Amino acid sequence: MLDDKAIKEFQELFKRKYGKEYSLNAAAEAFNNLIRFVRVLQDIAREDRRRQLKLQDHPEGFYLDDLKYNCGICYATVSGERGWYDKYGISCIACRDARRKKIIPVAAYKHKDSWYAMWEFNHYWNVKPATVRRFVRSGKLKARIVPGSNFHIFMIKDNKGFLPQKPKSHLVRTSDSSVQVNYEKVKSPFVELSRFNNRPTSDKITEGC
Ligand SMILES: [Zn+2]
Repeated sequence: MLDDKAIKEFQELFKRKYGKEYSLNAAAEAFNNLIRFVRVLQDIAREDRRRQLKLQDHPEGFYLDDLKYNCGICYATVSGERGWYDKYGISCIACRDARRKKIIPVAAYKHKDSWYAMWEFNHYWNVKPATVRRFVRSGKLKARIVPGSNFHIFMIKDNKGFLPQKPKSHLVRTSDSSVQVNYEKVKSPFVELSRFNNRPTSDKITEGC
């Protein structure tokens, strides 16, 4: 457990660095949260090291253990034989098989900025999946679809001239000293495509999938 001296030092350090004074209780809580966070990072690093060592004996990869993980592509929660670990990291079985069939390129694992997921069009430009699917059906947008999960990957290189590079993010400190992620403004590619299609794109579009 933490002693008062360590918490008081943390309290002083925070005041010097950020000009904000914590009560002893608030400092203790913040300190405890920080310690928990560091322990989680240590656990993750230890797990990763263990998997790297196992990979030396099983270079093709292996099924996960019974803990819960997230697929590095579709973020589905996986464990046991629903998940796979190899030199590309953690995959659900559907994404692993799609990579083996070259539906998902290796670049999608190595460079997360080389592709968009469906949810990101909504995140960056407020364009809903129904609208995106319409562009896919019309051939304006090329998607790679993972068999079995129907997860859509939109490679930038497959959609040159349409999809821009992904908006860059940076952290900013807000007035209450918390931190948030801001994204650079990048013009929605769907606006130009919509004009071409002579139809609007927004969350007001309610057509089915
Ligand atoms: Zn997956």
